[in-house]
Amino acid sequence: MRFTVMTLFPEMIDAVLGSSIIGRAKSAGIIEINAVNIRDYTTDKHRQVDDYPYGGGAGMVMMAEPVYACYKAVTEGIKVKPRVLYMDPKGKTFDQNMAKELAKEEELVFLCGHYEGIDERVLEEIVTDRVSIGDFVLSGGEIPAMAMIDAVSRMVPGVLTNSESGVDESFENFLLEYPQYTRPVEWREKTVPDVLLSGHHANIEKWRREKQIEITLKNRPDLLGKAELTAKEQKYLEGLKR
Ligand code: SAH
Repeated sequence: MRFTVMTLFPEMIDAVLGSSIIGRAKSAGIIEINAVNIRDYTTDKHRQVDDYPYGGGAGMVMMAEPVYACYKAVTEGIKVKPRVLYMDPKGKTFDQNMAKELAKEEELVFLCGHYEGIDERVLEEIVTDRVSIGDFVLSGGEIPAMAMIDAVSRMVPGVLTNSESGVDESFENFLLEYPQYTRPVEWREKTVPDVLLSGHHANIEKWRREKQIEITLKNRPDLLGKAELTAKEQKYLEGLKR
């Protein structure tokens, strides 16, 4: 799968996505990440990418033409028009389901804004999805693009090893993950819950599901409505609520 990031700061992308699980997937050739500098597609001698907003107001706006020229160049060799995701606080909020859906694509193009954003006309022309990573404003789209590339890559077959599998993770089945423990058994007088040491798989499974229900009720009760619970688990939840 190939990710292309159109940005004014390609060095940010290269610095962060070269390590850990994503870096390993890159080296293994499972994913490819190309950061492309929009400024390279300016034609004036000052390599200007932004200008004052029409109608006045604070800040600068990225101009349409360099973004368009960059888009033309990166999509030149691609047969089917790829999805182009504009990182946008006004967009639809990104979540695990969107990550899974995007992981089915062969090719994704990310467009990062900076300053006050990008001239609306080029967005209308090239963008297929406007996506936000949450209700807050960052100074650029690079961190959102990297967050999404990380989350999407984890859903691409072969990126996670079996032992890292994403099956039990938070948001699967609308439940948050259970707490995790590793050695030693006792740390600063705190011990690992007995059941995890018992080797009794059914009990461990039950304990984990109950913890998931507990933590989801505490931190994200909005998710619980969509979770599929057995009759017993439903009773457990009712008990917690009381
Ligand atoms: N003036 C704009 C914000 C511009 S922030 C507004 O009020 O809507 C500059 C750039 O950062 C945006 O173009 C976008 O690409 C990126 N950005 C900021 N916050 C973001 C968020 N929560 N999700 C995705 N992208 C974001």
